[in-house]
Amino acid sequence: MAVLNETDSMMDESRMIQELVAKFVDQELMPLEAAVLEREMQGKHLALTKDEDAVLNAKCKELGLWALDAPEEFGGAKLSAVTLMAVNEELGRTVTPFVFPPDSPNLHMLMATVTDSQRKKYLEPYASGEAKSAIAISEPNAGADPSGMITRAEKDGDHWVINGRKIWTSRVTAADFTIVMARVGAGKRHEGITAFIVEKGTPGFEILREIPMLAGHRTYEVAFEDCRIPAENVLGEIGAGFAPMQLRLIVRRLQIGAWCLGMCRRALEMMCSHAKQRITFGQPLSERQAVQWWIADAATKMHACRLMVMDAARKQDLGQDVRVEASMIKVYATEMATEVLDHAMQTFGAMGVTKELPLHLMAQRARVMRVYEGPSEVHRMSIAKKILKDTR
Ligand SMILES: Cc1cc2nc3c(=O)[nH]c(=O)nc-3n(C[C@H](O)[C@H](O)[C@H](O)COP(=O)(O)OP(=O)(O)OC[C@H]3O[C@@H](n4cnc5c(N)ncnc54)[C@H](O)[C@@H]3O)c2cc1C
Repeated sequence: MAVLNETDSMMDESRMIQELVAKFVDQELMPLEAAVLEREMQGKHLALTKDEDAVLNAKCKELGLWALDAPEEFGGAKLSAVTLMAVNEELGRTVTPFVFPPDSPNLHMLMATVTDSQRKKYLEPYASGEAKSAIAISEPNAGADPSGMITRAEKDGDHWVINGRKIWTSRVTAADFTIVMARVGAGKRHEGITAFIVEKGTPGFEILREIPMLAGHRTYEVAFEDCRIPAENVLGEIGAGFAPMQLRLIVRRLQIGAWCLGMCRRALEMMCSHAKQRITFGQPLSERQAVQWWIADAATKMHACRLMVMDAARKQDLGQDVRVEASMIKVYATEMATEVLDHAMQTFGAMGVTKELPLHLMAQRARVMRVYEGPSEVHRMSIAKKILKDTR
C-alpha cells in the first residue's frame, strides 16, 4: 500500500510539472515562434536573442523550472527521468529553440566524473545555470565511430597538452568550458580515450569556422594546437572517458525520443484540424482513407514510442542499463517523426511546404536527429549485435 501511495504521488508530481511546462510552452514559447520562423525565412540564425533568452530564463526561475535534473544540493529539482520525459515532450511541441537550463547531457557526464575541486569550479556553476558548456567528440575522420579519434593529449609536467581537430561541435562559442575527448597513449579503439575540461580562451584552443546546418543548428570546427591545460582538468579517469561519454549520449537519446513525440503531437493536431475543414472533390480531407491512415499510423506509432520512452525512463530511474533501449528509441522516434511530419506537410498541400508553418522546421529537426548522437544505421548495428550475442 505504501508503495502504491508513493507511486501515486510521483504520478501526481509528474502530471503537475507537465501541466506547468505545457502552460510555459503555450504562453512563453509559442508566441516567439513567428519571430523564429521569420529569422529562418531571412536566412538568419534562428536562435533566441539575448533579450528573449533573459526573459525566458527569468520566467523559468520564477516558476521553479530550472535545473530540473540536478540534485537538490545544487538547487535542483532532481526530477525522475519519467517526469523529465514528459517535460521534454511538451518542449518538443514548439520550434522555439529552448531547453530548461542547464542542458542535461553534460550535467550527467559531470555528475558522474567530477573531483571535489571540479565540482566547485565547473559543476556547481553549470548546474545553477551560470556557466555553459559544449562537448567536442567528433573529428573530420571519426564521427559515427568516435573510437577512431586521433586528437591526442600528452602529459608535460603539471599540464596536459592537446593537439588535434574537432568538428560539428555545438554551442562552443557560448560555452565557458568545453569537454574535449582526446586519446592518451598508443591504445586502439576505446583505449586511452580521456575527457578533459578546456576553458574558453585557453591559448591553442581556436574556433576555426561556423557551419550552418538544417533546422537552424550551428556547429563549429575547432583546432587544438599545443593547447595546455592544468593536470587537474582531466575529467574522470585517464583512459576511461568512453563510458561517461556514452552516459551523456544516452541522456540525449531519450530526450530525442520525447522531443519527437512533442513534434508529432503538434503535427497530428494540425493535420486533424486542417483535414476536417479542407474540402476537395466535395468532401473534407478527413473523409479520405489516405488521410485517415496517416492519422491512424501517426497515433499508433506515437503510442508505441511513448511506451518505449517511458519504459526506458523508468528503467533509468531504477539505475538499469538502457543502452539498447536508447538506441531503439533513437531509431524509432526519429523515423516516426520523419514520416508523421511528412504526412502532415502533405495534408496541408502547398501551405505545408511554406516557411510560414512550423512543420518544415520540425521536419528538418527530425532529419538532423537521424544523424547526431549516432546515425540510425549505427544504432541498428548496436541493437543487432546485442540481440545476436544474447541469442544462443
Ligand atoms: C546538428 C548536429 C550537431 C552535432 N553536435 C555535435 C557536438 O556537439 N559534438 C560532437 O562531438 N559532435 C556533434 N555532432 C556530430 C555527430 O555526432 C556526428 O555527425 C555523427 O556521429 C556522425 O558522424 P559523421 O558525421 O562523421 O558521419 P560518418 O561517421 O562519416 O558516417 C556517415 C554515414 O555512414 C553511415 N554509417 C556509418 N557507420 C555505419 C555502420 N557501422 N553501418 C552502417 N552505416 C554506417 C551512416 O549512414 C552515417 O550517417 C553533431 C552533428 C549534427 C548533425
